[in-house]
Amino acid sequence: MAQTDLPAAFGFLASARTGGGRIPAAEFTTRGHHTPLSERLHALTVDAVLVRPHEGSGGAHATDGDTLVLFAGEIYNRDEIDDALGSRGHASDAEAVIGLFEKYGPHAFRLINGRYAALLLAGKRVLAATDHAGSVPLYVRPEPGHVLAATEVKVLAEAGGAIRGAPVPGTRRIRKLPGVHQVPAGAVLDIRVDTGEVTVHRTWTPPVHRRLVTESEALNNVRAALEKAVIRRLPAGGRPLVVLSGGIDSSAVAALSAGAATAGIDTLSMGTDVSNEFPQARVVAEHLESRHRELTVGSGDLLALLPHTVHAAESFDPEVIEYLLPLTALYRRIDGPPRRILTGYGADIPLGGMHREDRLPNLDTAVVFDMDTFDGLNEMSPVLSTVAGHWSTHPYWDREVLELLTVLEAGLKRRYGRDKWVLRAAMSDLLPAETVNRPKLGVHEGSGTTTSFSLLVRQAGGAEEDVPAVKARVVQQLFDLTVVGRVHPDDIAVEEIIGKILAEGRR
Ligand code: ATP
Ligand code: MG
Repeated sequence: MAQTDLPAAFGFLASARTGGGRIPAAEFTTRGHHTPLSERLHALTVDAVLVRPHEGSGGAHATDGDTLVLFAGEIYNRDEIDDALGSRGHASDAEAVIGLFEKYGPHAFRLINGRYAALLLAGKRVLAATDHAGSVPLYVRPEPGHVLAATEVKVLAEAGGAIRGAPVPGTRRIRKLPGVHQVPAGAVLDIRVDTGEVTVHRTWTPPVHRRLVTESEALNNVRAALEKAVIRRLPAGGRPLVVLSGGIDSSAVAALSAGAATAGIDTLSMGTDVSNEFPQARVVAEHLESRHRELTVGSGDLLALLPHTVHAAESFDPEVIEYLLPLTALYRRIDGPPRRILTGYGADIPLGGMHREDRLPNLDTAVVFDMDTFDGLNEMSPVLSTVAGHWSTHPYWDREVLELLTVLEAGLKRRYGRDKWVLRAAMSDLLPAETVNRPKLGVHEGSGTTTSFSLLVRQAGGAEEDVPAVKARVVQQLFDLTVVGRVHPDDIAVEEIIGKILAEGRR
């Protein structure tokens, strides 16, 4: 089932309380219309702000008796859910969540394949839920009598220090924000508002078993699952925009989109003055007859967006920030009306695409490690594109595609000397041979981001061996400034920060 063009909400902030307390200012990085909401439930007072792509108020929240749901993002298996609930499918995603909750309780969230963060308030409880990938980050600050929740942590930073900075087992504490916790990927936090007590329920975990299947079964299954995931992410009427590098991951998404989107597709490639993959992307765009655009960003302009990337992703993992920097630049330059963007992001994690050698035990170790450690990095945060009003979505991290890819035995992921073999083989009839056979080039490599950032550190006087440590300190400081301190990223000069870090190191 194709989705409508954009989700009803990109994000939200909510305050649920049994007594007093105030809601912080809704200072989101996400661009959108703010819809305030105030509800008196039987035991809770609720104030919320929904951040929406369009004016109006429908679709992103639903009430039924004493239950209220706030929903940011979208559900991809509405057909299955509507069948299970016996509904005809005209309800909003928020109403579908209420329907599931009435039937299944907190286990409702185990049934959803989506890209979302949800808050469900019932009785004296607040349930804070993420999708299997935690792809829409969600943060809570549970205090006895007052629970705050928001899809951007900087919004909770404004609320000031918590009375109880106590850890909540099973959740992640946020650097320099006492009492604030991130809801783990694939989890529901069940919070009692009167006491502030939190119970964590997992709704998804990465599979650790592996399946031995024939080559043809593997590639048929991968093709079918990926095609379904792409179709579920296409806009209802208009043209999808695929961000295309010419690598196998995005080329596969572009090819499947072109096959299914009746109005045709748009593709967009980004490069810098240091490096680009334009010729490789052009081969794919011409083959698929997409309406194609190339965008060149100066490497200085790209690096100036480092604070914006940290501000949007609310992450300070230096590698992740390097992957996300070129995408931040790309999304911010997509002008015109809000778009639904499909990417090839994330295929390398279940397929071990970053693992550049032949030994299968090492490949599976890398996959297990990456699947165990993606949580909290916010690699797929929608804020990277909603800052410019657009909605990004990632077919490889569709729950069904992700599970299927993860459980394939390592020999199907690397075969005949080729990385991501199963994906390449599954797509071989839809793409030019040179695209199918092209070795992986990471987004940070193809755009020259890693090189440019390293050069900046060395030009400021950093020694070669100190470059990785300096980069890590830079992104950490950018987090402290933009997220915790809420300094606007335009007001930050990265060179100055690097200079200070190097000077401290010399002392
Ligand atoms: P491969 O992993 O084989 O290189 P890929 O380039 O499609 O395939 P990544 O390098 O992992 O995948 O990049 C992640 C995603 O980011 C891509 O699938 C694509 O959607 C987007 N992307 C990467 N580089 C560019 C680029 N230069 N221009 C536009 N989009 C890009
Ligand atoms: Mg690539």
